[in-house]
Amino acid sequence: MTKNSLTQFLQKLMILIPAYNEQEVLPESLPILQKIIQQLIDRRLIASDSGLMIVSDGSTDQTWSLIEQAHEADARVMGVKFSRNFGHQNALIAGLTVMSKQQLADFVISIDADLQDDPQAIFQMVEQYQAGSEVVFGVRNNRDSDSWFKRVSAEAFYSLLGRLGVHLVPEHADFRLLGPKAITAFLQYQEENMFIRGIIPLLGFNSSRVYYARHKRLAGKSKYPLFKMLSFAWDGVTSFSIAPLRLVLSLGVGFALFGFVMLIYTLVAKLRGVTAAGWSSLMISIWIVGGCQMMAIGLTGEYIGKIFSEVKHRPRYTIEKKLLK
Ligand code: UDP
Ligand code: MG
Repeated sequence: MTKNSLTQFLQKLMILIPAYNEQEVLPESLPILQKIIQQLIDRRLIASDSGLMIVSDGSTDQTWSLIEQAHEADARVMGVKFSRNFGHQNALIAGLTVMSKQQLADFVISIDADLQDDPQAIFQMVEQYQAGSEVVFGVRNNRDSDSWFKRVSAEAFYSLLGRLGVHLVPEHADFRLLGPKAITAFLQYQEENMFIRGIIPLLGFNSSRVYYARHKRLAGKSKYPLFKMLSFAWDGVTSFSIAPLRLVLSLGVGFALFGFVMLIYTLVAKLRGVTAAGWSSLMISIWIVGGCQMMAIGLTGEYIGKIFSEVKHRPRYTIEKKLLK
């Protein structure tokens, strides 16, 4: 086979980067990723029309104009601009959707703009893909660069999810490679409250893992402040598990049984004529049971709220502009 006919079979890789107010980081991370693409092309591992796509998730800083400049200078850099902030997960979905509709890529690697995930692991990911993995998970083997709080809260979150029956790949976030079959399968998941890292293991296919050390953010601040992180975690729980509802149900059963015991106790006490004092136990039960009822209603409401937002079938994002080839 000649070199030319070989190049025909090389597959197109796109690196997908969600970016929300990343002006401090992009000037550093883009050249690194562009270089990796070039190296892969030079080694004849991927097609020469491979490239990068950055999805600006409603950034209000210079992020979009940096993308425009990068696109001017190198047509391999493509961009999608959201009309407002729709969230990291939706930015990833939009990128995959555009790439698949416009046939921009055979396989895609997603990576955060701050390059906390080691971009050098991309080489191994491509290798694993070519060896037959349809999905390659990037897994970090340490969290030394994260703050104590982030580390502890993330660990608690993963162990809680595991106990609730949501099985994630531990220490894997959104640094992953998806092959063409996995992308097609993934895009069939149309739910609005997407927790992508929970969906990917559900797709099936041959998968493998690539390990790397997680670095500190190149620059700028985390775009996941505490509140956003908690709401992301809550989405993770309620999109995949009805265990909290079951817990409430069993709590209810427990309380009802306890109430029954109390009923007998009260009757016996009444018959024995010692019923005057009882104010404190009454007060306590009213508060505890009342609290539990409210909790149960609130929790049920959470799920109904999810159903409400799913049945509306609103679009998950709105694209304002695209810079493609
Ligand atoms: N991000 C996004 N939209 C958001 C929040 C974050 O597109 O609403 C992007 C962000 O630009 C980055 C990635 O998601 O590329 C991960 O965010 P970040 O690094 O701030 O999260 P952390 O690593 O602190 O969990
Ligand atoms: Mg980060």
